[in-house]
Amino acid sequence: MNTMLLGAWKTALRFCGTVFNEVGFYLVRKLLWRFRRPRYFILLGPPGSGKGTLARQLAPALQVPPMSTGDVFRREKAANTNFGKQVTAHLADGTLVPDSLTLAIVRRELISPRFWFGAMEDGFPRTIEQAIAFDLLLARWGASVERVVLLDVDDDALVDRLSNRRTCTNKACGRTYNLKYERSVEAGICDACGAATAQRDDDVPEVISARLRTYRVETKPLCNYYQDRKVLASFKPTGDMTAQEVFVLVKTALQG
Ligand code: AMP
Repeated sequence: MNTMLLGAWKTALRFCGTVFNEVGFYLVRKLLWRFRRPRYFILLGPPGSGKGTLARQLAPALQVPPMSTGDVFRREKAANTNFGKQVTAHLADGTLVPDSLTLAIVRRELISPRFWFGAMEDGFPRTIEQAIAFDLLLARWGASVERVVLLDVDDDALVDRLSNRRTCTNKACGRTYNLKYERSVEAGICDACGAATAQRDDDVPEVISARLRTYRVETKPLCNYYQDRKVLASFKPTGDMTAQEVFVLVKTALQG
């Protein structure tokens, strides 16, 4: 009985949240966007190219919050929601979550207050279908993708980075480290928030190769899509560049 009541209460809360977001977002679009235009940016690149770190660093400079679809899916999985149950297998084997599910969750996130004035997309879109649907969604709202930056990193560097990557387990932090190049001060502990760091389930060799394959087949063709729309800037970080240099170059590219 108690479980049923709790379930009904959670559903009611979720429903109220959705209504609040839909109405709030509608009003923001109609009343506030004329004073402050929303800005939608995309960081494109293979897994391990540094999109997540850059999205977090760029957020304050460009005043748009980062949105990582991978993080959203991992959060749903951890909370064991209906959506989380549907994405678990894809997270485990490095295949893409179906477009319809991905688009539904991206729309849900974009209308939440955090993203009312735009987003820095990290890991979305990943297929041409997603890119077209994203353009249509934004066009319906009277907005568009402002700039896309491709981080073009070689495969060898990616495998090395991903297999040595450790991620803060505190979802609100999510800082990443590298066992070779950027260790935390205390092994296994995040410098930023003190939570434990761990290897992501999909940062293991078999899943890494599947993710890189998926990137080449499904996501790389997006470069032509955005090049045709004249919003793409390609950028090849080299091993001798500092993180600060990469940050400045990507920021400049995003600002057009
Ligand atoms: P990431 O954290 O961006 O490396 O994403 C981790 C996993 O989440 C991917 O291997 C996919 O299974 C799934 N994923 C993330 N973003 C998308 C997307 N835009 N479309 C489909 N699947 C995605």
